[in-house]
Amino acid sequence: MARVNENFLKLNGGYLFPEVARRTKAWSEKNKGVEILRLGIGNTTEALTPSIADAMKHKVDLLKSRDTYTGYGDEQGDTALRVALSKFYKSEYGVDLSDSEFFVSDGAKSDAANIQDVFSRDSIVAVQDPAYPVYVDSNVVGGRTQGFDPEASNYRGLVYMRADESNGFVAEPPKQHVDLMYLCFPNNPTGAVATKDQLKAFVDYALREKAIIIYDAAYCDYIRHEGIPRTIYEVEGAKECAIEINSFSKNAGFTGVRLGWSVVPAGLESENAPKGTIHSIWNRRQCTFFNGASNIAQAGGLQALSPEGRKECRSLVDYYLGNASIIREGFSKAGLKCFGGTDSPYIWTKCPNGMKSWDFFDYILDKAHVVVTPGSGFGSAGEGFVRVSAYNHRENVEAAVRSIVENLNG
Ligand SMILES: *Cc1c(COP(=O)(O)O)cnc(C)c1O
Repeated sequence: MARVNENFLKLNGGYLFPEVARRTKAWSEKNKGVEILRLGIGNTTEALTPSIADAMKHKVDLLKSRDTYTGYGDEQGDTALRVALSKFYKSEYGVDLSDSEFFVSDGAKSDAANIQDVFSRDSIVAVQDPAYPVYVDSNVVGGRTQGFDPEASNYRGLVYMRADESNGFVAEPPKQHVDLMYLCFPNNPTGAVATKDQLKAFVDYALREKAIIIYDAAYCDYIRHEGIPRTIYEVEGAKECAIEINSFSKNAGFTGVRLGWSVVPAGLESENAPKGTIHSIWNRRQCTFFNGASNIAQAGGLQALSPEGRKECRSLVDYYLGNASIIREGFSKAGLKCFGGTDSPYIWTKCPNGMKSWDFFDYILDKAHVVVTPGSGFGSAGEGFVRVSAYNHRENVEAAVRSIVENLNG
C-alpha cells in the first residue's frame, strides 16, 4: 500500500489565510451591505507597465509565426536575460557575478521551497521569527524538523531567530551552530530592512560556521534609504556563503505573469564537497526537474531590466510606497504604533493595549471594516502585531485609512 510522506502531516495546517477568509466571510454575512476594505493581501493590484507589457505582446507575435517560433529554452533561463541580470548587478550594485551564476525561475517562492533539496537532510536550519511561511514549511516537508509544538507555537528542531521590537525586527545570528539560515530583507511581514553591518554579522557567522545563507530579496526595489543593501552581495564574502532569491513579482507586477531568479555563486563552500558543487547540484536539479520559465515572461523580464523598464518599475513601486506612507500616517494618527512601510509595502502594526493578533484582527474588522493579516500567523514572535499591506488601489487604501482614523480613535 502506498504511504504518504509523513512530513506533510507535521505541517501546522494552512491556517492563516483560510482563517482570515473564514472570519471575513462570517462578518460579512452578519453585516450585509457593509463594504469591507482589504489591506490583508500581499498581491499586486496595478496594471503591467506599458513597455514591459508590449515586450510580452511582441514575444507572443513571434510565437505566432513558424519562422520565429521557439519551444523549450534553456532550463537555466534565456542567455539574454541571464546576461542582463549579470550586467544589472554590476551597474546597479557594483557586484560581479557571471551570467552562469543566475538561474531564471517561475518565481521566488518555488525557488525558496526547492533550494533545500540541495542540502543534507540533517542540516540544522535557522529562520527569522516571524517569517514568510515557505522557508519553514519546505524544511518541515524536507524532514529537517520534528513535530509542531502548539504550546510554543513552533517546530521542534528548527532554530528561530527572534525579530522583535527590541532589535528593530532584525534578528541576530544564532548563538549555536546552524547550517542554513533564511533571511528576507526588506522583510515580509515586518517591513524591516537590515543595514550593511547587520547583514555582515550574518555573513561573518556563515563564513565562520561554514553555513549557507538563503537570502530573499523580493522587495529590494522598495528600499529608498541610502546605504541599505539591496543585495546580500554588497557585503564582502557573501559570494562564498549566500544564495539570493529574487523576483519580478513585486517590482514589475509579475505576481500573475510568474518570473524570478536565483543567484547560486560558483564560490559557495560546503563541508562535504569542493567549491562549485552547490552550483552544479542546483544546475543539475533545475535541468532535471524544471523546463525553464515562460519565454513570454522572460521577454517581459528582459524589458524590465532595460532603462525604460526600470523607470516604469520604479514608478510602480513608488505608487505602492505612496500607499504605505498613507497607511503609516493614518494608522499613527489613530494612535497605532507602526513599523516598516518606508522601504517596504508592509506596515507592521502593534496591537494596542496588549491585544493579541486575532483579537485585534476581529476588532478592526468590526469597528472599521478593514481586513489585515494577524502577525501570529507568521510565527510566535508575530503575536501582538498585524501586517498591513499597501497592495490595493489608492482609493481603497484611502477609504480604509479614513475608516481606521474615524472609527478607532478613542
Ligand atoms: C511575494 C514574495 C515573493 C515572490 O514570490 P514569487 O513566487 O516570485 O511571486 C518572495 N518572497 C517573499 C517574502 C514574498 O513576499
